[in-house]
Amino acid sequence: MPELPEVETVKRTLNNLITGKTIAQVQVRLPRIIQKPDDIQLFEVLLQGQTIESIERRGKFLRFILTDYVMVSHLRMEGRYGVYDTSDPLELHTHVLFRFTDDSELRYKDVRQFGTMHLFPRGEELTQPPLHKLGLEPLDEGFTFEAFRDRIAHRSTKIKPLLLNQEYIVGIGNIYVDESLFLAGIHPEREASSLSKKELMLLHAAIIKTLADSVEVGGSSIKSYVNGQGEIGMFQHQLNIYGRQSQACNKCGTEIYKTVVGGRGTHICPVCQPLKRQRIRKKLEK
Ligand SMILES: [Zn+2]
Repeated sequence: MPELPEVETVKRTLNNLITGKTIAQVQVRLPRIIQKPDDIQLFEVLLQGQTIESIERRGKFLRFILTDYVMVSHLRMEGRYGVYDTSDPLELHTHVLFRFTDDSELRYKDVRQFGTMHLFPRGEELTQPPLHKLGLEPLDEGFTFEAFRDRIAHRSTKIKPLLLNQEYIVGIGNIYVDESLFLAGIHPEREASSLSKKELMLLHAAIIKTLADSVEVGGSSIKSYVNGQGEIGMFQHQLNIYGRQSQACNKCGTEIYKTVVGGRGTHICPVCQPLKRQRIRKKLEK
């Protein structure tokens, strides 16, 4: 499932490829992708003649800023955009086609068919579902330590599900939450309210570093994409902990184990991320 860095990469790539293009015609082949408006024909008609001014991101959502409208798109599990010539043969699972006036075409493919698109008059998209309740944007300047602490510090919830909740902080999915908690040395089952100021500072920095590093790696896939043909690929992550169960921790060599926290598969180094750190520290201090 794409997380913030992947969506950011897709956003940057699309900005390079389709900004300034004007939509001549839209064809929806799978109506369920279009969540708003209800009338699919209206979706197709409203987009005709609209120029793509830019593509922005909010959490894991793409916002296509058009002349009069904003199209909000979520890729969910398998959604992909690609830019083609209109004469290119249609690949399987292509559900929405945006034909431009220059005879190029943006195509939306989605094997699992979970992706969504919403169309709003410009400016209304941030006040309505699905964007209206989204939390802090971790790569924005507004994601200060104070803002992070205010959202997180007083909650009695376990830290991992709290970080996954998009109403607090957006864009961190299962991979990057495990990576961030590992980097900060925090066990995923710690209660948020039990974290010391120092731990919160480490976690705040770890979230930014994990996401920013991944965005940077994603940047290199932009070039390879532009030089290649067809489709925007997801980049390979440099992961320290996610998916590395039964392997040695990169920091300490201890075996990483996998468990379930808040219903999600979770990877932990028992030495780098002790569950009872505070209690142990208190004993040592005595
Ligand atoms: Zn370790």
